[in-house]
Amino acid sequence: MTHENPQDQTHENDLLLATVRAFMEAEIYPHEDMVDRTGEVPPELGRQIESRAKAAGLYSANLPESVGGGGLSKSAMAVIEREYGKTSHALHSWIGRPTEILLACSGDQLARYLLPCVRGEKRELFALTEPEAGSDVMGMKSNARRDGDDWILNGSKHFISGPCMPDFAIVFAATGVDETKRGPRKRVTAFLVDVGTKGFDIREGNRCISYRGYKNYQLAFSDVRLGPDQILGEEGRGLELAGKWLGMGRIWVGACCCGKAERILGLATEWAANRRQFGQPIGNFQATGFRLADMAIGLRTADLLVRDAVARAEAENLQDADAAMVKVYCSEMLGRVADDTVQIYGGMGLMEELPIQRLWRDSRLERIWDGTSEIQRHIITRAILRPLGA
Ligand SMILES: Cc1cc2nc3c(=O)[nH]c(=O)nc-3n(C[C@H](O)[C@H](O)[C@H](O)COP(=O)(O)OP(=O)(O)OC[C@H]3O[C@@H](n4cnc5c(N)ncnc54)[C@H](O)[C@@H]3O)c2cc1C
Repeated sequence: MTHENPQDQTHENDLLLATVRAFMEAEIYPHEDMVDRTGEVPPELGRQIESRAKAAGLYSANLPESVGGGGLSKSAMAVIEREYGKTSHALHSWIGRPTEILLACSGDQLARYLLPCVRGEKRELFALTEPEAGSDVMGMKSNARRDGDDWILNGSKHFISGPCMPDFAIVFAATGVDETKRGPRKRVTAFLVDVGTKGFDIREGNRCISYRGYKNYQLAFSDVRLGPDQILGEEGRGLELAGKWLGMGRIWVGACCCGKAERILGLATEWAANRRQFGQPIGNFQATGFRLADMAIGLRTADLLVRDAVARAEAENLQDADAAMVKVYCSEMLGRVADDTVQIYGGMGLMEELPIQRLWRDSRLERIWDGTSEIQRHIITRAILRPLGA
């Protein structure tokens, strides 16, 4: 029985899948253990992945051809992200997929930010989370006040992640307060802030045990002066911009989780078939066999949820709750698969010599970033109850 994605079965996707798999076999998988052990991707290895990804046509595949990207459809990107998800962000994030928010660049911003990112000459970070404002985005303290035509930015961000030190960050900051039907609400604006700007300090953050070698940064802003041309999109519309991107981001997380679950389930199956106790393969014990069956059911369901959400996105009808369902279901499915696989492996599941403990550690993050499971459930609950006025 195969656990491949039921949505991969088109001719174009077959070719794409073959390209991505060949790339991963040659450029990514051989380095996984070293990166996890050392907690670093040597910069020359990162640059090599980057340049070979460009040669293979995988770099910026998510962005439209009109800006120099690969112009792949969302369903094709789901196929790719699912393959990338089998391995570590520390490695596959070097195959750049610049954030689609940058498509909001206009005027000089195109040449300064968007196009260099598409070509892989610049790297960006997406900086929303703050030490005191994680799930509670509106609790953000970062703010920018007007000074003539300029803006003066103050505040801090943390957990802002990427493969390497970026060239600039997309920073979300409050630029005022709106009165709404539900009371006062912060106006949030997205700014493009270059590394090296006076008053902008960026340094590596704490080391994470998921995806070792994938960096996260702490950003601090002290009276950073920004010109009006450093606003991305419109003043006060930053969260709308972020929201558009976060929805698809959650679907890519879902696709990644399915890929990783397929890989882990393959390893669990092999072990269950070959490890013998009491004179027979442990898979013959119902406690093990039923675990495999439940994993297979969960994975197929998750793949179908991703497929449904991608179809909705392609029909331009993706709601926040659709993306939230994908995020919460796929990441929790992966959590169960990873944990059950450690159990099936027994003590060997926790030994550094085997990849199970790494895949288990890596899987844990998926329920936290891009909005925790609890926050996804809030989004779904709101969509259910709000039409009833609750
Ligand atoms: C490795 C890594 C990389 C990241 N990369 C980025 C990045 O590039 N850019 C970026 O902006 N952010 C990034 N993040 C931040 C990430 O999105 C946040 O960690 C996440 O949104 C949760 O915020 P928090 O960690 O502050 O947890 P908290 O918000 O403090 O939550 C702690 C716990 O309380 C629960 N909780 C909070 N509020 C509620 C509620 N109302 N109801 C029920 N439960 C609640 C949460 O679900 C969670 O279980 C990254 C995080 C990590 C760990």
